[in-house]
Amino acid sequence: MFKTNVKLSDHSNYKIGGEAQYFFQSNKVEEIIKAVKKAKQEKLSIFVLGGGTNLLFDDQKFEGLVIKPTMNQLQQDGNKVVVGAGILVSDLLDFVADKGLAGLEWAGGLPGFVGGAVRGNAGAFKGEMKDSVIEVTSLDISGVEPKIIKRNNGECNFGYRNSIFKEKGDQEIVLEAVLALEPGNKEEIQKVIDDKIAWREARQPLDHPNIGSIFKNVDWHLVPNKWQEDEELKTHLKTDPFPVLPAATLIDKTGLKGEKFGGAMVSPKHPNFIINSNNASAEDVRSLIKIIKERVHDKYDIWLEEEVMIVK
Ligand SMILES: Cc1cc2nc3c(=O)[nH]c(=O)nc-3n(C[C@H](O)[C@H](O)[C@H](O)COP(=O)(O)OP(=O)(O)OC[C@H]3O[C@@H](n4cnc5c(N)ncnc54)[C@H](O)[C@@H]3O)c2cc1C
Repeated sequence: MFKTNVKLSDHSNYKIGGEAQYFFQSNKVEEIIKAVKKAKQEKLSIFVLGGGTNLLFDDQKFEGLVIKPTMNQLQQDGNKVVVGAGILVSDLLDFVADKGLAGLEWAGGLPGFVGGAVRGNAGAFKGEMKDSVIEVTSLDISGVEPKIIKRNNGECNFGYRNSIFKEKGDQEIVLEAVLALEPGNKEEIQKVIDDKIAWREARQPLDHPNIGSIFKNVDWHLVPNKWQEDEELKTHLKTDPFPVLPAATLIDKTGLKGEKFGGAMVSPKHPNFIINSNNASAEDVRSLIKIIKERVHDKYDIWLEEEVMIVK
């Protein structure tokens, strides 16, 4: 029932990655359950893939099964929207703007699937997925028998780029979410979404394959006292979603803009992005990540933490 030797670079926004031993894509929950059971019987490790916009696959073959759930339901129920994990966030935004439902405008230009956005509690411009989610249906694949679970917002343990789905070590597949929105004006909603897209186009290196911000911004409370007193650094403090020092600022001030390793490069346009500038390998990107972490640590005594998923 699985495809074999599928090129993962074709499923990655980075265009990086070796083959998957087995690959399965479906928009039907029963088929996903069947695939999980089969993988368990065969003792295969499982990796769940969304839009591939926040992960770095390895250059080597992935030994196991990559499952890409593409559940594609998208229904309005009053001010609520029921959305499948495989819907592109951009398609969800087109839908809600057309229905005159407000609350997700912050996500204008956010790439990837709804499942990935829920799992990582994606956020931007002071908005996060957790602000709209009222229920998530997932498939627990930790045991022999996959189990469907429904959780309300509180039970999802959402945090900064975090959720129970991430905390559980990716033993749950997000299948569907119910979002609560508010009635709004169609044109105004679309305008805000378009502004966010334009903001990203002006500041992010979207002309090269990339996976968004490599590192999380740094909780201001974890910044060493000496640097908290630095007047210049203080001017970069952001309060989204809480007081943070942007990783981009630290990378920039360490002089790493434009730094290269093989085909990977720290974007001169946005230094928290590492772009695939010339057929980069996963090893190139990992090496550059290591260089950035060490150089920032040497200067600021801060260890940057990856926001992206590095698949090994
Ligand atoms: C140009 C650019 C800009 C970006 N800007 C932002 C931003 O502003 N804010 C932000 O938060 N992120 C941003 N990102 C990162 C990324 O777009 C989001 O994190 C997105 O929500 C990831 O979704 P995905 O479907 O692509 O996930 P993938 O990259 O496919 O997967 C990411 C992780 O989620 C897991 N996963 C995926 N689908 C599921 C599922 N259905 N069930 C369980 N686990 C799953 C995967 O196993 C993996 O660990 C940006 C990325 C790019 C390329």
